[in-house]
Amino acid sequence: MANKTEIPVRKNQVLTGTVMDLTYQAMGVIKVDNGYPIFIGNALPGEEIKYLVTKANKNYGFGRLLEFITTSPDRVSQENSVYLQTGIAPLAHLTYEAQLKFKQEQISALFQKDKLDLTVQPTLAAPEATHYRNKAQIPVRAIDGQLETGFYRQRSHHLVPMTDFLIQDPKIDATVKEIRDILRAFNVPAYNEEHNSGVIRHIMVRRARKTGQQMVVLVTRQRRLPQEADIVDAISELPEVSSIIINYNPKVTNVILGMQERPVYGNSYLEDELLGKKFRISAQSFYQVNSEQTENLYRQAIKLADLQPDEIVVDAYSGIGTIGISIADHVKQVREIEIVPEAIADAKINAQLNNVDNMDFTVGLAEEILPEWVEKGQKIDVLIVDPPRKGLQPEFIDAVLKARPKKLVYISCNPATLARDLRLLIDGGYNGTTTQPVDMFPMSNHIESVTALTLN
Ligand code: SAH
Repeated sequence: MANKTEIPVRKNQVLTGTVMDLTYQAMGVIKVDNGYPIFIGNALPGEEIKYLVTKANKNYGFGRLLEFITTSPDRVSQENSVYLQTGIAPLAHLTYEAQLKFKQEQISALFQKDKLDLTVQPTLAAPEATHYRNKAQIPVRAIDGQLETGFYRQRSHHLVPMTDFLIQDPKIDATVKEIRDILRAFNVPAYNEEHNSGVIRHIMVRRARKTGQQMVVLVTRQRRLPQEADIVDAISELPEVSSIIINYNPKVTNVILGMQERPVYGNSYLEDELLGKKFRISAQSFYQVNSEQTENLYRQAIKLADLQPDEIVVDAYSGIGTIGISIADHVKQVREIEIVPEAIADAKINAQLNNVDNMDFTVGLAEEILPEWVEKGQKIDVLIVDPPRKGLQPEFIDAVLKARPKKLVYISCNPATLARDLRLLIDGGYNGTTTQPVDMFPMSNHIESVTALTLN
């Protein structure tokens, strides 16, 4: 047994070991000596491997796989390792069955840690495990003087050029490649992150599954593109492009979209359909990336909410109103809260498009608006929440525990914050029995789930 302060491995050592676990970030874990963990990419539980120690920190290390001694039955032989090296598909080496199980187990492990007594159901599989994404945000960089599109190597900003993105709608991939070629033909300089120079930073393409319409957003460091009219003309002739927007982002930042944008061709929105309802989507608005599976997610949420005609529902973190509009016919009133003004503007139009007149819309932070409503004595029968990765704010949870809606449906894209919030809600008097993971992001390590809570 090694001394506690002693690091049991050295950099550049070649070792063999058996992988014990797979982390949330899809790294294999080997434990050396007294439990010192070494994280190794492309290594799966049960596999015996030879590896090189690349980093030996005080409490953990990193290694690089050199050779498989045995391989897991859950492994997909990955011909194109570019998907694993980049962040686009970090689970592409796992069979789809094993991915579903991995996601279920990730949630279970977090629940166990927080002593949450909910059963995690088997993950609801997506209809398609590849080519499902309706949106691409593709970085543009120069490599050896040539403008390239691709994806970043994991945990870096090193661009790996690629044209087949595996998980995106192939029509989006084709559009991105055509735009790359147009930008090359017009000699548009790619963005240089180090010097904050160059012009074109990202190409975003969103495609509406139902209508086929494609929106192209060119994110630029300059207000105008050189030869803008000609470039816009060329892009507008690509198949199904219904709108082109120039988004101005001069800042040194990892945030992709800037605040100012200018429609230069067609509509400033896309039109799509979910669960038979029509939706208009602006560039700045959130829209679920896997349309087919979104319908399944919403069906689960609606079923769990067990809606009644006399109920008042609050749909917090509502985006463009997709959930609210899908349920409005079944209840008395739906109240939407959302922070992005463009999304609320879309939501209002979407309600009209679907002849819904029992909804209202508030732009603001859910953690400010809900407490105000509760203070004023607003009655809430059902609360639906669908927060971003950071989960619910303490002020929001306090307001829920004051208002005590009899049903709460929590749609989560981050099991860690879900577990944290469920602990507080359950300690505050709510009851939950099951969580249903719904795979919105095959091949990626993101985990979506829906949980219903009721009052004791
Ligand atoms: N329910 C919608 C949107 C979910 S994504 C759908 O299914 O499409 C989460 C949404 O919450 C985004 O639209 C985001 O803009 C919004 N949001 C993020 N933080 C917020 C906050 N603190 N208060 C209100 N809305 C917020």
